[in-house]
Amino acid sequence: MAARARTRIKPSRSAGSRARSPRRSSGRAGGGSHRTARSKGPERDLLARLKEGAVICAEGYVFELERRGYLQAGAFVPEVLFDHPEVVEQLHMDFVHAGSDVTEALTYYVHREKLRVIGREKDLMPMNRAALGIAKRVARRTGTLFAGDLCNTNIYDPADQDSLREVGRIFAEQVGWAVEAGVDYFIAETFSWTGEALMALEAIRRYSKVPAVVTLAMHREAMTRDGHTPAEACRRLEAAGADVVGLNCHRGPRTMMPLLREIRAAVQCHVAALPVPYRTTPEQPSFMSLTDPCCGNERAFPVGLDPFMCTRGEIFDFGREAFGLGIRYLGVCCGAGPHHVRALAESLGRRPPASRFTVDMSRHAVFGTDKRIRKIMTDYRAKA
Ligand SMILES: [Zn+2]
Repeated sequence: MAARARTRIKPSRSAGSRARSPRRSSGRAGGGSHRTARSKGPERDLLARLKEGAVICAEGYVFELERRGYLQAGAFVPEVLFDHPEVVEQLHMDFVHAGSDVTEALTYYVHREKLRVIGREKDLMPMNRAALGIAKRVARRTGTLFAGDLCNTNIYDPADQDSLREVGRIFAEQVGWAVEAGVDYFIAETFSWTGEALMALEAIRRYSKVPAVVTLAMHREAMTRDGHTPAEACRRLEAAGADVVGLNCHRGPRTMMPLLREIRAAVQCHVAALPVPYRTTPEQPSFMSLTDPCCGNERAFPVGLDPFMCTRGEIFDFGREAFGLGIRYLGVCCGAGPHHVRALAESLGRRPPASRFTVDMSRHAVFGTDKRIRKIMTDYRAKA
């Protein structure tokens, strides 16, 4: 079980699953009205859906595609959009099958700066259009919301006018392509600077007419890089016209939750919560700061994080707790698989198509309680 391989070099796969089964609920805490909306045809209004209940947005595309062998950890640019568009489309379908209400275009890190880093600037426009086209097709087929995506540029520097001009250009052109594609709303995500998040919001406000969800990502310090608490940063984003504000990425449920409480108390608008599915701690509150005692206390990010993975039960608990706080825009970020999304959906009392196969140990060969399980097997239970 204890994989002692240097996971930085070669991720080891643990065969045993210690996943706790997510508790079922018969309630409809998350609002089940999206089902009705789907049967009537696509409901494309994010704010109307949030008024009715929770909205689940699966994120974490680049991590999942990296695990599947279709893009490289490090740069994390989704070159898979050109190489294997069918893989991206299938992942969108997998997340919807597991309960996502949103199909988010995979334009994360498909911006001018990241493509420059990998020497593919000329692919900027076609790669954005490819991502938007795939997501739109899935969204319209499944009745999910079609979201455009802006993200951290990694060049934002409030003291450098040239960098600010370039950040503005990155946001403006990506908003333009997404508007052309007809997105239902925008997600602007994973910002460590309030100022950069405000610039993304400004571009969405200026060049589109659709709602904006803006989420910040907190590193070790519960403070943006320009010195605001998450609550204060979210207040500013709300004042600047964001429809939904909150946090995504970097922090696991345990170290994101206290910040979410403060944000919920600080703003009037809807709040978003999309943690990474990792067991972050008060000492190592972000997934980039986690170190693995099995591997010489090396930094586990990004390809040695497997031993820190949250179970489905933990994501179920997160969903229930966050919704209980009045947080309605929910998801899971980098590291999430469809099983996490399903657990989140079930925490809201939903039964997405994938719930047909939610664990049922009553039919297990050793631990089962079904009367058809042979005694020779159940007698052996204590030794299993
Ligand atoms: Zn993430």
